[in-house]
Amino acid sequence: MASLGVIGMNGPFVPPLIDRHTHLEGSLDPDWVRLESERRGLGLPASLETLWSGSPVPFEGFIEAFLFGASLLDSREAVREAVLAVARRTTASGGRGFDLWASPHFLVVHRGQISLEDFWLGMEEGFSIAAALGLRACLVVDAVNHFGPRHGHAVLDLVLPELPIFVKGFSTGGLERCPFRDWAPVFERARAAGLLIAAHAGESGPGSNVRAAVLEGGVARIIHGIRADAETLELLAERRIPVDVCPSSNQALAADVDPHPLPRMLLAGVRCALGTDDPGVIPCDLATEATAARGMGLDEQAMARLRQNGAEDAWCLAD
Ligand SMILES: [Zn+2]
Repeated sequence: MASLGVIGMNGPFVPPLIDRHTHLEGSLDPDWVRLESERRGLGLPASLETLWSGSPVPFEGFIEAFLFGASLLDSREAVREAVLAVARRTTASGGRGFDLWASPHFLVVHRGQISLEDFWLGMEEGFSIAAALGLRACLVVDAVNHFGPRHGHAVLDLVLPELPIFVKGFSTGGLERCPFRDWAPVFERARAAGLLIAAHAGESGPGSNVRAAVLEGGVARIIHGIRADAETLELLAERRIPVDVCPSSNQALAADVDPHPLPRMLLAGVRCALGTDDPGVIPCDLATEATAARGMGLDEQAMARLRQNGAEDAWCLAD
């Protein structure tokens, strides 16, 4: 980590800026998506155009837009291009690394649109180019919570036999419909295989899911967690559980959580950091997320804390 940081004007070490949470399928470059759609004779979904224009759509519209991008990831070249879109966006906003989520099982088995071999090759090529640009990166394999633990085991059946070294973690995403206690055996299996465990919790589901993910699922990292109550924030702080917060995504997909709880979370001592989530669908980058955080009233000390947490708990910087 230290090698990526810089010494500030006044001497103190400034930790590297890391995008702590972004999805491969939701991070495509809009120009590439337009060109690729034209080449294939596909019309863009209206929901995607609406989101690109900065206007909200219902949650189903977001899913439609997200899945449209995912449908284009059907070759090694397309996967490589998707990783490069993340790399370029990270670099352009001053970032030095990213923890990237992706759902290989969805693309390879559920949709059957790419082989696992081509998926890994595209990832590997993208990560190699990102490394040449001076970026650190790792992959977190995402499973779909609402498909349930059998699906979780199927994801592990797919990826564990020949796990590339850039895969550092396993996570659940999707709708928070399946209780985390039911996911515990899947998480345990992933942990036994050497993976770090995260979960999207307290975003589409209630704040109690955050507590359950930690206490019943044993997860080491929470994505969003914005519906957590004061008692749960205390638990997260006590256990030093990292929480990835993505203001633009939260505003678009969890607009009822208002005001955004980030200042309250930091005040409670929760190790929050910023991520972009789906910047190819909901336009944003690390700079807009920092601006949004400042707009919530965070002072420079709190902003520095976000950046420090972002680096200290990043899996892409972990050895
Ligand atoms: Zn996410």
